[in-house]
Amino acid sequence: MLAGPTAVGKGTVSTCVREHHPDVWLSVSATTRAARPGEVDGVHYHFVDDARFDQMVAADELLEWALVHGRARYGTPRRPVEEALAGGRAALLEIDLQGARQVRRTMPGALFVFLAPPSWDELVRRLVGRGTETAEERGRRLTTARDELAAEPEFDVTIVNDDVQRACAELVDRMGVVA
Ligand code: 5GP
Repeated sequence: MLAGPTAVGKGTVSTCVREHHPDVWLSVSATTRAARPGEVDGVHYHFVDDARFDQMVAADELLEWALVHGRARYGTPRRPVEEALAGGRAALLEIDLQGARQVRRTMPGALFVFLAPPSWDELVRRLVGRGTETAEERGRRLTTARDELAAEPEFDVTIVNDDVQRACAELVDRMGVVA
C-alpha cells in the first residue's frame, strides 16, 4: 500500500513499478474526476460518472473509497485485489491517506508505505511545476498535503522520493519482490 502527500510523486513511482516490475500487480482505481491528457481509461484509472460510483459503493464493490481534495471520489475495486492476492501476487495500491486508514482496518496485514518528499519546499515546487491545476486547486492540495505529511508515523515504512528509480527499487524491495 503506497500513500503519501499529494504531488509527492506516487504516480511516477507507480509508473516505474508498472514498467519495470511486471511481477507486481497494480490496482486500477475508479475515479469520478476527468482524465488528464495521456491518461487511459482502464490503465491509469477507471473513469466513471457519479451514478456509477454510487452504484459501486452501494454494491460494496470497493475495498475503500474517499473524497479526495474535496472534489472527486476515488476507490479501489475490491475483487481484482482479492484475486491478485489469492493468486499469490504482490499487489500495490496507490491511494490517499483516508483510503489507507480504511484498508488498515480491513487488511491489517498489509504493508503500509509512506512516500515522503525530500522537503516541504520540494513538495510545493513539484505541485506548482505540474501545472495541471488552477491556483485555487493548488491551494486546496497544499492544505491536504500538510495534513497528510503529519500522518507519516502511522505507516510501517517511509520511503523518500529523492529519485524515482531509487524509490521504485526500494519499494519493490520492501514488498519482497525480487528485482
Ligand atoms: P490524482 O487525481 O492526482 O490522480 O490523485 C489524487 C489523489 O487520489 C492521490 O493522492 C491518489 O493517491 C489518490 N487516489 C488515487 N486512487 C485512489 C483510490 O483508489 N482510493 C483512494 N482513497 N485514493 C486514491
